[in-house]
Formats: sequence, C-alpha cells, structure tokens
Amino acid sequence: MQCPRCHNLMVEQSFEDLRDDTGSLCFKGWRCITCGEVLDPLILSNRAAHREPMSGRARQKRSFIQIGS
Ligand SMILES: [Zn+2]
Repeated sequence: MQCPRCHNLMVEQSFEDLRDDTGSLCFKGWRCITCGEVLDPLILSNRAAHREPMSGRARQKRSFIQIGS
C-alpha cells in the first residue's frame, strides 16, 4: 500500500470508532508512517462513490486566492 500524499509505505492498522448505541466499531485501515495520512474503508468508498465535479474544485481555488490576496 502506497500513500497518496507522499508515496511512502503505509501500514495496516485497526481503528476504533465509538458509536452511540451500538458500542465500539472496529475496522481496518491504513496509516502512512511518514506523513500520518490515514485511509480507512469508509474514506476509500466515499471517494469512489462521490467524485467532485471540476467546477466545484475551480470555485474552491478561486475563493482561496481571494482570501490570500
Ligand atoms: Zn504519506
């Protein structure tokens, strides 16, 4: 597994997600040992299901430039 940010090695890790009534939910994910980027199954499935359109990305970039200048 390779980190999408720094392309270094990622290690498999168990994560615990505390839920209100269902108790704790454990799942396996990946953590980058170099930059700390975390990938879990939910993030991966969300990225695959909801791809942001190009127009949304362009708008974010423009507003960021206005804030900076
Ligand atoms: Zn990384």
